[in-house]
Amino acid sequence: MAWVDLNESVPDLNENVPESSQYRLITDGQEVIVNPPSVGMCFTTGHEFFEFCQLYAFKEGFEMFIKSNKLKKEYKEKGVSKSGVGKYEAKPHMMELIRLKCKKGGVKKGVGSNVTGCKMNIYGVSRDGLFTILTCDLQHIHPLNPDCSRLMVNYRCIDGTTFKRAMINDMGGVSISKNFGTHLIEKGGYENITFNNRDLRNAINVERRSSRFSAADAAGLDAYFKAQRDLHPEFYSSIQVDDDGVFTNAFWSDARSRGTCKYFGDVITFDTTFACNRYRIPFAPFIGVNHHGKSIIFAAALISHENTPSFVWVFEEFLKCMGKAPLGILNDQDKAICRAIELVFPGVRHRLCLWHMLQNASKNLGSLSDWKKIDTLIRTAIHDLIDPDEFDEAWCHVMDEYGLRGPGWMKDAYVFYTKE
Ligand SMILES: [Zn+2]
Repeated sequence: MAWVDLNESVPDLNENVPESSQYRLITDGQEVIVNPPSVGMCFTTGHEFFEFCQLYAFKEGFEMFIKSNKLKKEYKEKGVSKSGVGKYEAKPHMMELIRLKCKKGGVKKGVGSNVTGCKMNIYGVSRDGLFTILTCDLQHIHPLNPDCSRLMVNYRCIDGTTFKRAMINDMGGVSISKNFGTHLIEKGGYENITFNNRDLRNAINVERRSSRFSAADAAGLDAYFKAQRDLHPEFYSSIQVDDDGVFTNAFWSDARSRGTCKYFGDVITFDTTFACNRYRIPFAPFIGVNHHGKSIIFAAALISHENTPSFVWVFEEFLKCMGKAPLGILNDQDKAICRAIELVFPGVRHRLCLWHMLQNASKNLGSLSDWKKIDTLIRTAIHDLIDPDEFDEAWCHVMDEYGLRGPGWMKDAYVFYTKE
């Protein structure tokens, strides 16, 4: 059974987690007999040593942490480090030296600190192909709580089956508190579970963030689009999937939107700021203005990666769907979008969306001491100066006056403006 180790990031439960990195505990009433560690005890890897010591500590009712370690050369060369994350994260099996200490060791710092100065420690090194305990001191100077082990941070975990079910509930709209409550009742109380409400919330949030459309989701969306096309022959849709059948991008537009685009699609805005759906995939609508001055949607896309290839695909779909390129496009100053526009819509006038532009100005220059004055001047140049030369002069004046001619947002925006 795969376990969600709450001290690490949540593994992708669809992936096969290698045996060596799985974290096992005493489960289903089956108690693993753990002999106390002793000098001379050998293990095949640092991981086995670490796991053995953790089981011992769990059974005794205390927690340990890695006080010091030394990475094996082969892993160091691969870029693994103490502060690494993901595949560069230092794991016990990559170490040639590990010193474990009781979490209550160390020097007491202030009131409320749990540190007692306990000297308990276990020290193991890799030698002649084996990981051997060189020294170990198992004496604590504080009481141990074996009954509370399951709720200590080191040992809290969510088993794979429970977590999968919690994710299904979450997708179905069940709140995390309810999700946790159901599990609590099923297991018959707090004393029988190995995680708390917050652990579940964190694990679900990590999974929500990391989850993308699965092959089944892509198929579901495809089926929905097909049903729409069957109902309305003018409905246009397209889905891009990767080699594994996993969703990457989608584009669609209904008959009404396609019709209005014919009349009002001269100038469009394309915006990827909406990323509020469950899958954290940006929702990007193509928007225009009709003869009543109202915003109208021409088409929409879901984009899993905000990179140039994705935008190229989306814009090509727009071309296929509408049959013609717009005369002008407004959007934010996103480099990937700019490149895609140049590739798919060469010659189309590309302008910055004013709202985004002012947002970006405050994001990039807002920390300057003269920001208020700069902001007023920028707004004056944008809103009040219709003549291009006047605008030019005003913009350059701000850059010179406040030393913003160098590389930075003001210069980039100016280069963008002067580019045809
Ligand atoms: Zn201790």
